[in-house]
Amino acid sequence: MASSQAKVVSTILEKHGYQLGRYLGKGAYAIVWEAYFKKWRTNVAVKVLLKERAEAEFLSKFLPREIQIWKSLKHPNLINFYQSIETTNRVYIMLELAPRGEVMDIIRMKGACDEKTTGKWFEQLCQGMAYIHSKGVVHRDLKLENLLLDHNDNIKISDFGFCKYAAADINNFKQVQLSETYCGSYAYVPPEVLQGIPYNPFLSDVWSMGVILYTMRTGKLPFDDSNLRRLLKQMIKGPIFTQKHKAISIECKDLIHCILRGVSTRYSLHAIFDHPWMTHLVKNRPDYLQDMEVFYQPFNITKSSQRLMTVQHSNGHESFVKDIPIKSWG
Ligand code: AMP
Repeated sequence: MASSQAKVVSTILEKHGYQLGRYLGKGAYAIVWEAYFKKWRTNVAVKVLLKERAEAEFLSKFLPREIQIWKSLKHPNLINFYQSIETTNRVYIMLELAPRGEVMDIIRMKGACDEKTTGKWFEQLCQGMAYIHSKGVVHRDLKLENLLLDHNDNIKISDFGFCKYAAADINNFKQVQLSETYCGSYAYVPPEVLQGIPYNPFLSDVWSMGVILYTMRTGKLPFDDSNLRRLLKQMIKGPIFTQKHKAISIECKDLIHCILRGVSTRYSLHAIFDHPWMTHLVKNRPDYLQDMEVFYQPFNITKSSQRLMTVQHSNGHESFVKDIPIKSWG
């Protein structure tokens, strides 16, 4: 950022009680700085977004949704949202600081994580995601770059730019609203998203968690995203473990296979928490899990131009959710 711009940012921050600190990094639309918040005597992260660089849809739709939803979420494994300030040219978002950076950078530097670290981080990811899903919110951009670390190397899920409410409470039934917007990075999205089929975003978040688990434990992404046709073929075949991976426990490999599979048999968050690899790690199984089963129900899409999604409830009821025109089939 040019020094004149840094000066503007610094002046605005000063006005609100923050002292501009070191540069932390750059995202698609924002520059992230460390800042000292005098009132709390603590360092925070400030995302500074230059409005003229952002697309109109991002400013009018995704950013307000991100701020509204992120504000309402509070959990030890999520980056805490503190405040947002809008000026004529910029939006400033004050966030909890993750001083140890991205999990992806640790894997790039040190390679695969051992079973214990993977277990700790994956459990924390599951705790954070169970909380997010319990609020009816889906993340839709889970990846190792969006998992940050606090002072004690605890996971903090970040970046809610693609999040949305995907559950509706209609006639006392929780119902899933399918997503049609393509979101996320190719390497982390499930096959149904790549195929352009309206997808259950709760199950799509679960797939991304499987990609994260595989990558933490092996140091490599499970599928090659340099060619989309090949990527889809590999996804359908499922993840591969070779001789190189013999140190990975059978239970861990099994859990990965249970997540990185077709939508109709893909594990729910409950099933993940109940898997043998997880049960010995998890001290506190979130008690709100039982209310969320409906979010992970596989659904049927009938073949008509306006298709109806049905959600099968655990009590045997089926409810129609929404007419969904499908852009491309299978
Ligand atoms: P983003 O705009 O979210 O892609 O972030 C751009 C850069 O800032 C990345 O290198 C992030 O790791 C870093 N960053 C974002 N949020 C935080 C945070 N809360 N604490 C520390 N670093 C962050």
